Amino acid sequence: MDPVFKQAHSIATNYISQISSRNVAPTLEALNALNHFDIDLPSNSTEPQSILHELEVFGSPATVATTGSRYFGFVVGGSLPVALAANWITAAWDQNAAMRVVSPISAKLEDVCLKWIIDVIGLPKETGGGFVTGASMANLTALAAAREAVLARQGWNVKAQGLFGAPSITVVVSDEVHSTVLKALSILGLGFERVVRVPTDSEGRMISEKLPNLDANTIVCLQAGNVNTGSFDPIDSVCKKAKEAGAWVHVDGAFGLWAAACSSKQYLTKGLEHADSWAVDCHKWLNTPYDCAVALVKDPVHLRSAMTINAPYLVMGSEREPSQYVPEFSRRARAVEVWAALKYLGKSGLDNLIERTCSYALAFSVGLKKQGFLVHNDVVLNQVLVSFGGSEKTKAVIQAIQQEGTLWCSGTTWHGITAMRISVSSWATTQEDVDLCIKVITEIARRVI
Ligand SMILES: *Cc1c(COP(=O)(O)O)cnc(C)c1O
Repeated sequence: MDPVFKQAHSIATNYISQISSRNVAPTLEALNALNHFDIDLPSNSTEPQSILHELEVFGSPATVATTGSRYFGFVVGGSLPVALAANWITAAWDQNAAMRVVSPISAKLEDVCLKWIIDVIGLPKETGGGFVTGASMANLTALAAAREAVLARQGWNVKAQGLFGAPSITVVVSDEVHSTVLKALSILGLGFERVVRVPTDSEGRMISEKLPNLDANTIVCLQAGNVNTGSFDPIDSVCKKAKEAGAWVHVDGAFGLWAAACSSKQYLTKGLEHADSWAVDCHKWLNTPYDCAVALVKDPVHLRSAMTINAPYLVMGSEREPSQYVPEFSRRARAVEVWAALKYLGKSGLDNLIERTCSYALAFSVGLKKQGFLVHNDVVLNQVLVSFGGSEKTKAVIQAIQQEGTLWCSGTTWHGITAMRISVSSWATTQEDVDLCIKVITEIARRVI
């Protein structure tokens, strides 16, 4: 066997074993050392061992320790060991997930995972879907199916005819719509400025009483899990109105959709099954490695129609062909790590992962409030917004926390207030981590003036 594999294994396992004892953010020294890579493409070959050595010496220190237990930035999640290990095996397989005939195992695990996800989230049995890079792509994919369906109802074939001269589609979003939904709408020719925006309440939830009149030419985009507060749009009441009007409802549930798999958080996703399409990440809260997400559509005919691909040389069988449900053709077999994560967790493990991370968010909120800091959201999920005084002071505290290295959090502006966001979404975080971080945050906030 080529010795590079042994070397790679050793570098990777060293990295993993040291993740909790290093700074969460890379040091300035590690960042400066990245200049090492600024060379012209060599004329001649380089020894594989020395290539891996460079990655170990200059690469590993310049990573952010997102797989450690104290990274609370954005909503990133870690990697369950079994999911990462499955990802290594998948890399060795180097399967092309496009067609059943190029990777039977990938196609099989896609089928199985779709069934499991639909079951554990409580979506209609007939729901179909595809495996994509992230929720951005899942939103784009599902909204392409929505666009296809809404226009097909009016006798317009958007695939063949495009949007020039097509009947008009109204897209409704909330003021708190995620930027990736707007990006998807702009790529799909639906425009991010011509959307109808519905106002939101103090927690960032769409106010359903303020919805415009809906009709069958409307796509309503809802959010399950606000990136700042963790709040959910009122899915049930919006779906009821939309169903009466014949409108399509899409739910961006990048991280929040998994709340539906947690008995104590399920109430937040009430009515979810009445929507028409959903986007959910696996690389965030399910803790698979990057990049991994699922686009789901209740009536898979629309997804299939929007994503159809055909050519004489392709081999499409009678079973579900993966590339007929996603934008990509060739792609990696990302369902393998989803399968590994779900099989490892089981329903109770998934329930516990969501429950536990949410309980740590609550512990952060209670602990920091006790120290006299202000928490600005109702901590219903895994997100906490905390400030340490005025805007300048809070920004300085965030910067000092990032430099100190025990943990990492980013900042945001929420309803005019500068706050630090704490997102708890890694399996690796423990109560000890939370206690330590509250102590460090408090010390830094007292020290910074
Ligand atoms: C993260 C996120 C996205 C985008 O997901 P990616 O996986 O980064 O593409 C979309 N919507 C919400 C609510 C998110 O939190």
